[in-house]
Order: sequence, then C-alpha cells, then structure tokens
Amino acid sequence: MALTQTAVAAVKDRISERVDRLRPDLERIGRDIHANPEIGYEEHRAAGWLTELLRGHGFTVEVGVADTPTAFVATKSHGKGPTVAFLAEYDALRGLGHGCGHNLIGTASTGAGIALAEQLEKFGGRVQVIGTPAEEGGGGKVRLIRAGIFQEVDAAMMVHPDTRTQVLHWALAVTHMHWEFIGRAAHAAGDPEKGINALDAFVMAYNGVSMLRQQLKEGARLHGFIKEGGTAPNIIPERTSGEFLVRARDKAYMEELLDKVKNIFRAAALATGCSVNLTFPDEPYTDLRNNGVLAKLFEENLRRLGIQPTKSPAWENAGSTDMGNVSHVVPGLHPTIGIAPADVPGHSQAFLEASNTPRGYQAMTEAAKAMAMTGADLLAEPALVEEAKAEFRRG
Ligand SMILES: [Zn+2]
Ligand SMILES: [Zn+2]
Repeated sequence: MALTQTAVAAVKDRISERVDRLRPDLERIGRDIHANPEIGYEEHRAAGWLTELLRGHGFTVEVGVADTPTAFVATKSHGKGPTVAFLAEYDALRGLGHGCGHNLIGTASTGAGIALAEQLEKFGGRVQVIGTPAEEGGGGKVRLIRAGIFQEVDAAMMVHPDTRTQVLHWALAVTHMHWEFIGRAAHAAGDPEKGINALDAFVMAYNGVSMLRQQLKEGARLHGFIKEGGTAPNIIPERTSGEFLVRARDKAYMEELLDKVKNIFRAAALATGCSVNLTFPDEPYTDLRNNGVLAKLFEENLRRLGIQPTKSPAWENAGSTDMGNVSHVVPGLHPTIGIAPADVPGHSQAFLEASNTPRGYQAMTEAAKAMAMTGADLLAEPALVEEAKAEFRRG
C-alpha cells in the first residue's frame, strides 16, 4: 500500500532519530572491529558482534549461510512487500587491517536495517542485513549469490567509505591470478648450465606484461608482485611465485586480457625451460552496475540530510568489488561516503586511521540514514521497485 508523501517524510524522521540513538552501539562495534582486524573468511568476531545487535532488535539471524561460517542473513518482515537488503562487509586487508574502512560498512548497513525494520508495520515488506565476508579477495558475495541468497532480494545496497561522497561509483571487473614457475636448482657459479632459472622466467613475464600495457583499452589495469624469488644468491632460483590482478571495465575485455597475460607467462616458461602453474582460487569480480532508480532516491535522501554529493567523472579512481557481481543479479547501489581528505589514498595507513575517527563514525550514521530512507521509499511505493527492476532487466 503506497503511503502519502507526508507519511513517508514522517517515517524518514523516525529513521533519522533511530539511527542517532543507535550510534553508540554502532560506534562501539565499529571500534571493536577496527581494533580486531580479521581477514576474509576469518571474520568470526565481527560477524558475531553485528548479529548479536541484530538479534537484540528482533531480527531472525542465520549464521553460516552458503557453507561460510562468517556469512549471515538477518531478516525481519511484516506482511507482504518487497525485500530490501543492506550488505554488511567487515573483512580487513592482509597486513594492513581496516585500511579500507569495512568496519564502517558493516555497522552502517546494520544500523540501516534496524532503523528501517522498525518502520515495517507502516507499509509491509522485508528488511535483510546480509553479512558478506571476504570482499578484499575471496569473493564472499559470489558464494552467497551461488547459494541463492539473493533470489528473493528486490534491491541491494551498501555504502563504502571514501574521500568523496558520491552516489554513482564505478568498479572494474577483476580476476586474481596466482602464478608459479618451476625450474631446476644448480650452483650459480659451479654448475650454472645445469640450472633452469625460475626468476628469469618471472622477469620475462613481468616485462611482457609491462609491454602489453601500451596496448590496453582505457581503464584496464595489470598489476602484481613476486612473493618468492629464490632462496640464496649462489643457487639458480628453482621456484618463484606470486600474484597478479587483471582488471578491465567489463568482464568480456577482462577475459580477453587474461588470455594475453596467461600467454605471456606461458611464453616465459617456454623461453626459459621452466614449467608454469596459473591458478585462480578467487572468483572473478564483475564490473559494477549502478541502478538509476535507487541512485536518484539515495541522492534525494542525502540532500535531505544536508549532504551535497560530488560528481566525479565516470571511472575516476575505480577499484573493484564483489558488489559488482551482486549488481548483475539484482538492482544494486554502491555509493561512497567521504571520511578523509582528498589526498588520502585508499588501502593506506592514513585511511586506516580515518576509519576510526569521529568523522568516520559520523559518516557511518549518515550512510545508515540515507540507506534506510531509500529503503523506506521503496517499501512505501513498491512501484519504484518495479521501476528499478525494469531498468535492471534493460541492462
Ligand atoms: Zn579495499
Ligand atoms: Zn573496501
């Protein structure tokens, strides 16, 4: 049943007040997650703290969905209506901690879910907070998609901390490749002719990738590193290994580039006499599709909160996210919210610090409010959900 504009405005006021009252709990959990960083698929404490809060506010919580112990689905429903999902990330970066601010994502989505769910009896429908582990490699959301978690979701949202507040965000498709060259060890002075140099193989591959960069379409990115480069200077390196990422603006071109990169690694193996192993333990991430209907509502709600979003050129500073995969399954939105000055790089010590400041937690509450208000728009006027889905189907 559609609500009048005045009634929706009153609901939004309730939501805003509710998030403000939730802030101490959300901030405490945000600080705990920040102080106890857990990498992908090991986020037991983070998932535990968030689900405890959700249970305490009447959500039915299922932990360990999709055979993933740190994934969860928290649901609250009333009568009939669309399902709005807020996605909670809470994994840390290997070796850095919360340098991507996911402590603020998990808490913002949880706050949005609790605040919106308390208004459900005004219009009916279902609110879910979906705990999605391992965004920084591991593809938690891809696992959840495979397990059918999004089958009954009508719209999915999350907000990512950034240096800017932007409604539209672009993300590159990415594949994560692990590589290994195997040669043969030999005394580097006494028996060099008996050796097969696995480091030479990687240097050739690295240079080959560097040369390929000149011929890339706009926006594509190839980057990686070496983890094992040998064991001693007087031994011909027998084994080298590392990782590479291949990114592009769409999945088809990413796959085309990946074939070229694989050929470069194979060519280096052939040239040196090494063998090469290329493996792909992580799911590829797709590009991110912004749903225009959700974007328009979210932007109006930001302005309602007195926040003027900035508009940067498309694809500027694009990374990758497994929210991209979700946005190819259901109408999705992944705006950003500013928590740090423009010169602070993502995935850095400075961004890690910004993720645990009053400004960061203020942004968390604003993100929670704007998401919950957008959810209220959708539940109060289900025709908007149909519009979002129609746009999604058009592609
Ligand atoms: Zn990140
Ligand atoms: Zn991130």
